[in-house]
Amino acid sequence: MTETLIRVVLLVTEQSTLYLNLLLIFCLFFSACSNKIEPGSEAHIREVTLAIEDQRLLNAEDTPVDWLLHGRNYKEDRFSSLNQINKSNIDQLGLAWSIQLGTKRGIEASPLVVDGIMFFTGTWSVVYAVDVRKGEIIWIHDPGVPREYGEKACCDVVNRGVALYKGLVISASLDGRLFALDAATGKVVWEVITVDQKKAYTITGAPRVFDGKVAIGNGGGEYGVRGYVTAYDAMTGDELWRFYTVPGNPADGFENEAMEKAAETWTGEWWIMGGGGTCWDALVYDPVLDLLYIGVGNGSPWNREHRSPGGGDNLYLASIVALKPDTGEYVWHYQTTPGDTWDYTATQPIILADLEINSTDRKVLMQAPKNGFFYVLDRITGELISAEAYSYTNWATHIDSDTGRPVESEFARYLDANVTIAPGPGGAHNWHPMSYNPETGLVYIPVQQNFYTYGPHKDFSFDHDSRVWNLGTETDAEKPLIKDEKIPAKASKLVAWDPVNQKEKWNVLYQSTAGAGTLTTPDFVFQGTPEGLLVAYDSLTGEGLWSFDLKSGIIAPSVTYMVDGIQYLTIAVGWGGATGTSSLPLTEQVNPGTIYTFALGKKSKIPDFARKPKKQLVKLPVDASEAELEEGQTIFIKNCRACHWGEGNVPDLTYSTPEIFQIFHEIVGRGIFIGKGMPNYGDRYTEDEISNVKKYILSVAEERRTAQQ
Ligand code: CA
Repeated sequence: MTETLIRVVLLVTEQSTLYLNLLLIFCLFFSACSNKIEPGSEAHIREVTLAIEDQRLLNAEDTPVDWLLHGRNYKEDRFSSLNQINKSNIDQLGLAWSIQLGTKRGIEASPLVVDGIMFFTGTWSVVYAVDVRKGEIIWIHDPGVPREYGEKACCDVVNRGVALYKGLVISASLDGRLFALDAATGKVVWEVITVDQKKAYTITGAPRVFDGKVAIGNGGGEYGVRGYVTAYDAMTGDELWRFYTVPGNPADGFENEAMEKAAETWTGEWWIMGGGGTCWDALVYDPVLDLLYIGVGNGSPWNREHRSPGGGDNLYLASIVALKPDTGEYVWHYQTTPGDTWDYTATQPIILADLEINSTDRKVLMQAPKNGFFYVLDRITGELISAEAYSYTNWATHIDSDTGRPVESEFARYLDANVTIAPGPGGAHNWHPMSYNPETGLVYIPVQQNFYTYGPHKDFSFDHDSRVWNLGTETDAEKPLIKDEKIPAKASKLVAWDPVNQKEKWNVLYQSTAGAGTLTTPDFVFQGTPEGLLVAYDSLTGEGLWSFDLKSGIIAPSVTYMVDGIQYLTIAVGWGGATGTSSLPLTEQVNPGTIYTFALGKKSKIPDFARKPKKQLVKLPVDASEAELEEGQTIFIKNCRACHWGEGNVPDLTYSTPEIFQIFHEIVGRGIFIGKGMPNYGDRYTEDEISNVKKYILSVAEERRTAQQ
């Protein structure tokens, strides 16, 4: 019996081998065979992207070869276990290729990669597909964002990336659309408008996919909007649910019990300016607990005295809210900054982890929101486990572990004085992704050390204008100034933070004030710098082990993945974002947007960027009265300063050429630079008023020249 069985097995095996051999021969001769699909071809892209379904995404943590989700896996920890590039060979890491993107504004995206096909976004929400093997663009999809939208974007015309699902590349545009592209061709499959485009909503965040759905939030808190997150069917774009983060006008009825409860924490007529609470970045899906955590933004306007004059916590501003991913139903919330009055968003990246704390395994989420405290929360209940300052803060002394609330400094709310507060509205940490390395137990936070003088804003009846920032925090010259001598100088830092013991392990200090995203692997933390370097630090000690000069300030995070057995590292470079529109990086010049990819043993050179001539302060005669200059200054502060208050990727106008001032009225009053993102103010200001703005700019240039002499 046994003998017969063995013989049968042998026969079958022999036949299988024969069959396989025949198949192999067939494959060699006929290119139609599936394993002969040319990498980078439509058929290849379709095959590898169609395979990105739920199980594959759930397993993303165990398949570091690809980078399939915004934060690499659903924990969004940006830890890759790939270790082909390691301490023993990092000195051989070199440039494999670079692609210039033809853009001049900020790039913040985390590229996604599947089998050597990379998808990412650049400025003005343009989507790119790139063949990593060749270092070539496969397709570009420009959603055609109307350039007037540049005015509604608080923090540059940036975008943080795409989501991949079953053959689709899903992305959102600055003007509030969410769209799905055929990953193989870049052609639009479906598109929905997710905002009221008459209002000042914008989208810069990356959509997140989970369980057949795709979720997206929006921004616009500075201009006056009401925040929310919407989930759509990932395959069709049909709307499934929407969760508002702040209550609307009670007279219209509340959408749900969560809004009814939230309304008890507001006073006055907050809904007129929208209330704020936009969710412009962190949306993190937790497949283990079946929850979706959303990071909620600041109040609108910033000053609570305007927004909710009787006080109150103003739920769910500056909170992390857990929702049921199927329905968008509220589950729990934790408010990091009750009654926010400083633009302390809690939209910053959220990382999920399992940590042993006091000998107990805890399912936690971690966030370093703008307010300067690092939070570890129990993500089952939303309960505070611990919070400590990760950067200098003076608005609150500490977080009370019993109440879970900050203990505010007496002067923090700037009610009757101008007060210098740290951190400022740029946040001790902003959108720049942090990463968590489970092997070192450290979180690598791009920290920004900054401060800002908030003022009580004397005019409490100020007009809300949805085309400009409405903050209500202007300093009042008649009030005293409270300064804190202990506030450190403006700078940025890479901080390695121990989340269990809530303390800093080491840091690297930079001169510039802007942060840049991080990535971690067993041996390294990779971070770009405003000085233009891509650096590999020792993940345990912070020692710099390798760097590459990319010669233009970096803000985006890098990603790593493997193609045909080779580990690659990719970073997109484009100076800009909240800090970069109005400040220069510490490099010789800002170079156009470029994506760089590195691998061991590669020796390509970075592009030879054209040298830009050194700029001179404009020198033109100014004949203006005090009253004209004052009017010009008022209009400038209200409309122009947010982008043009320094030399960044948007010009400092005092350095513009005399030719620009010859066509000043055409630019400002007739919109001839709309294509560059410069709005038309012709419907808002008269020719005389525009002329006064011009005189004001020229007089500032004159003052600066005198100061230089
Ligand atoms: Ca804000």
